[in-house]
Amino acid sequence: KCMDEMLKKHKSSKKINSAMKLVYSEFQIECKHLTSALPMYARRNEIVSTVTENQVSIIIGETGSGKSTQVAQYLYQAGLADSGLIVCTQPRKIAATSLATRVAHELNTSVGNLVGYHVGMQMKTSHATKIIYMTDQMLLNLCLKDEKFSKYSCIIIDEAHERSIYTDLLLGMIKTSLTKRPELKVVITSATIEPEIFVNFFGTCPVLKIAGRMFPVDVIWPHENEGDEDYERAALKKTIYVHEKEQSGDILTFLTSPLEIEKCCNSFEKAFQDTNNFICLPLHGRLQPQEQQKVFEPSPVGKRKIVFATNSAETSITIPGIKYVIDTGVAKEMLYDPKKNINALNVTNITRSSAEQRKGRAGRTESGKCYRLYTENTYNNMETNTKPEILRIHLGQALLKLYELGVNPLQFDFVQKPSQHLIDTAMETLELVGAVSQNKITERGKWIAKLPIDPKFGAFVYEAIEEGVGIEGIVLSACCGTSSMFYRSGSESQKNEADKRKVRFCHEGGDFMTMLTVFREWHNQQEKSKSHWCSQNSINNKVLRGIRETVNEILNILKKEQGILMQFQLKPPKDVDEKLQEMLFKIFRQNICHYLGHDKAGYLVVQKDQIVQIFPASSLKTLGLQPDWIVIERVLKTSRDFATNITPVKDSWLQKALADNLLKFDLNAVQSQRVEQAVFCEVGEKLFSNFVGSRYSELRNVEKTM
Ligand code: ADP
Repeated sequence: KCMDEMLKKHKSSKKINSAMKLVYSEFQIECKHLTSALPMYARRNEIVSTVTENQVSIIIGETGSGKSTQVAQYLYQAGLADSGLIVCTQPRKIAATSLATRVAHELNTSVGNLVGYHVGMQMKTSHATKIIYMTDQMLLNLCLKDEKFSKYSCIIIDEAHERSIYTDLLLGMIKTSLTKRPELKVVITSATIEPEIFVNFFGTCPVLKIAGRMFPVDVIWPHENEGDEDYERAALKKTIYVHEKEQSGDILTFLTSPLEIEKCCNSFEKAFQDTNNFICLPLHGRLQPQEQQKVFEPSPVGKRKIVFATNSAETSITIPGIKYVIDTGVAKEMLYDPKKNINALNVTNITRSSAEQRKGRAGRTESGKCYRLYTENTYNNMETNTKPEILRIHLGQALLKLYELGVNPLQFDFVQKPSQHLIDTAMETLELVGAVSQNKITERGKWIAKLPIDPKFGAFVYEAIEEGVGIEGIVLSACCGTSSMFYRSGSESQKNEADKRKVRFCHEGGDFMTMLTVFREWHNQQEKSKSHWCSQNSINNKVLRGIRETVNEILNILKKEQGILMQFQLKPPKDVDEKLQEMLFKIFRQNICHYLGHDKAGYLVVQKDQIVQIFPASSLKTLGLQPDWIVIERVLKTSRDFATNITPVKDSWLQKALADNLLKFDLNAVQSQRVEQAVFCEVGEKLFSNFVGSRYSELRNVEKTM
């Protein structure tokens, strides 16, 4: 009925052509049974009238209510796209493309016509496009050129509760444009039941609450003897168990990184190599779109689909056929430690709302089961909601974006303002790399802001190009943040074998130079023999391919944004390696560490007064090197603080940096600390071995007397 009214309205305004009418009538038939059961459907008139009557509206739609797929359609059908596009933002690319495909399908067209998407370098739109799904990052980028959002009549910020950094910045920019665009409609949709933060930010605005719809999902907790295992092994074991024991239905298993996913896919396939009743697929943000798309296709007849995914599969997406979810309860998060001024990639416990979202993936299209690999007690102790990204990561990139928008970050209207200390440290880094000077973005800063990477690496690429080592600089930047290139798994003897194979790649210039060495050799292989070469050398082909893709992305951006055309040609190592190593020192000089003179003591992070150990997988460990000075890219927190991505520093570079005031610390004071620590460790070691020795003889005596 609603559709008929809509059609009549549009007919009389002659805004609709016959092709559109056809779309509507076909849609009427299909949509009825597909979407009329969704909770949003019963409230669609209310949604349309609320959005029409208010400039900003908030919709709290619990999971499965239909908020990601339906709201944009209702607004479109009500004519809100007559004077501009309806854009719906998502924090993740996979969600944006799969939602666009789904909504296009519901509207009986193919994606790229009435409904399109624009994410990263991929765009599928046409003149007919009225609804466009985008990443929040993309809309923010477009807003740089058009701060009034003039192409859009309506902006839907979906999954606002996730509080990605781009969502937060967008909300700030949108708030500023509201007075300049009184006719602009803004809808904030969120899955949490606490809209206060957004209401407070925008002032008074209506809040509609819509119940969710989920088919029943049984939660299965681990047995008492399970739960202490390494989560990756536990996930693989449980996936194998479900595949063997449970009835038909697809499986979705949550892991934390692309590397784990690849490993589990391989192990799973190996475990069932004699059967062909399954298809095993990875899902994470580093895959090519065609590879990602595969998980959304129905599984081949008679085969079970098994998807190993990162938390990119957690919200907003529906993988048809998933009946079993296996939840490890962990995810990898980039966390910035302001005291140490280092980004650290940590495996952290997920929040309770993430656990519920994960469970929800099993009840999207039918009832299901969720196997949790953590105890009920752990669940009860989980944090309720995720901390906003802007309060979690290095702010440099975000602040630089603001500068580029012409906004002074010190005066920006943040949804939740990061602590002044965090802002100050980020500003310090931006000044350090020359992106900002006297509270204004520099030409170099504008250049850096175009690159989708940490400004520190943006500056590295900038300098590398200036120094004539651009391609190597881009490869090194792309290596940062990837999983290890070296495979090291299986039995002890397999691990030893992998360790032996690694030695010849290890470069005295440290981990980045080692990664570059591997990349060079991999790159020199013919395309068809790359995979064989990788297995011969225990190298992860996917990681290398991922790096090559990031390099291509950066090269494309440089071409598009800066008009810089670069040939992908690597220079002979002997001509460039020392220069690159010195550049790495300069970029990480804030994290300079001094050897404390004893194996047990490790390294002192000079300007942070923190002690770190060399990570066992570092190439320095393989080569048995313990240089006096190193710079490190990040600290990995496990049982101890481990320094990873290490570059040894030459004395002459350090002296020069101190003389040029690029580094400011008291060399003598640091060196005397080294002597103290070394003595302390030696004495400690002696005391310890004496103690153990005497306890040992004591115990033996006791044993004898018994
Ligand atoms: P929300 O954002 O409120 O969690 P969505 O709008 O994404 O919900 O989807 C609502 C419902 O529509 C899902 O629970 C599912 O039943 C159905 N749905 C969405 N996308 C698909 C799809 N690709 N295939 C099958 N069903 C889907």
